[in-house]
Amino acid sequence: ARKAGGDRLVVYSHQLNAEAGERLDLESLLRHAVERNELELHYQPQQALHDGGLIGFEALLRWRRHGKLISPADFIPLAEESGLIVAIGNWVLEEACRQISVWQAEIGQRVVVAVNISPRQFAAPGFLSHLEELLATTHVDPSCLELEITESVMVEDAESAIALLHRLRALGLKLAIDDFGTGYSSLAYLSRFPIHKLKIDQSFVRNMHAVREQGAIVQATIGLGHSLGLTVIAEGVESETQRAMLSAWRCDEIQGYHYSRPLPAASALNFLEGSLQL
Ligand code: C2E
Ligand code: CA
Ligand code: CA
Ligand code: CA
Repeated sequence: ARKAGGDRLVVYSHQLNAEAGERLDLESLLRHAVERNELELHYQPQQALHDGGLIGFEALLRWRRHGKLISPADFIPLAEESGLIVAIGNWVLEEACRQISVWQAEIGQRVVVAVNISPRQFAAPGFLSHLEELLATTHVDPSCLELEITESVMVEDAESAIALLHRLRALGLKLAIDDFGTGYSSLAYLSRFPIHKLKIDQSFVRNMHAVREQGAIVQATIGLGHSLGLTVIAEGVESETQRAMLSAWRCDEIQGYHYSRPLPAASALNFLEGSLQL
């Protein structure tokens, strides 16, 4: 058993193992997770540095089995390998759109939700048409939905990936590059991505206050993003020291435990209502 970063995520792989009998068949359990309503989204608030206001939320997937939450780090890789990520990813998009509609009706204001898109989901044939259909049936304003993709979508076929990003952008969706700096794509590609936002990976943020070189990378990335006309958000911001440094470096937004942990939908609504009253 392991307790992940105070995120109240407890993972019991051996318990899953025991449940499934002699052979660990996580894949078949995962296959049924969608239809058994075992998946849920938690929402982590994102904050504007210039006025401290709420920007929106990142939707983070959790798998609830017998009351315990399983971290996506423990099943997304398997979902990717098995191809289950397409069905799971579609569910995530549908659930995020449903939640956007519910919240907007509740508070009478637009709410932006960012959704993680895995490389295999992005490359799957029906991805664009599923999104078009979803936006049409839910009537969600496309600019309320942000797609977080990683540089790894470029690995297979950069030209088709860039073409798809253009079509997604034309739909009115917001696009962000996630985990920026951890992939292998060249900086030349970045200038060709029709994206809105760059997310600085938390591995750079973690020690930026203590290790001068890490700070230099973060600062340079903020400058790079801005010179390309992008909004820059830093993730994994845990302390006031980090917040103040990012603010001094003119980073636009932050996300991390300092502002808020990922919240179940009901708590996220409270957070939303609380931030409206400011
Ligand atoms: P990510 O997209 O980089 O998401 C950020 C991760 O950092 C989340 O972990 C979040 O809970 C955690 N985090 C947020 N603030 C802090 C902080 O201040 N300190 C630290 N140490 N961690 C922080 P989580 O929720 O366990 O998700 C892990 C990864 O799983 C995500 O990384 C993402 O790559 C993937 N994932 C999550 N939901 C989905 C999904 O719906 N679809 C896909 N394809 N992948 C997902
Ligand atoms: Ca993300
Ligand atoms: Ca990330
Ligand atoms: Ca990450």
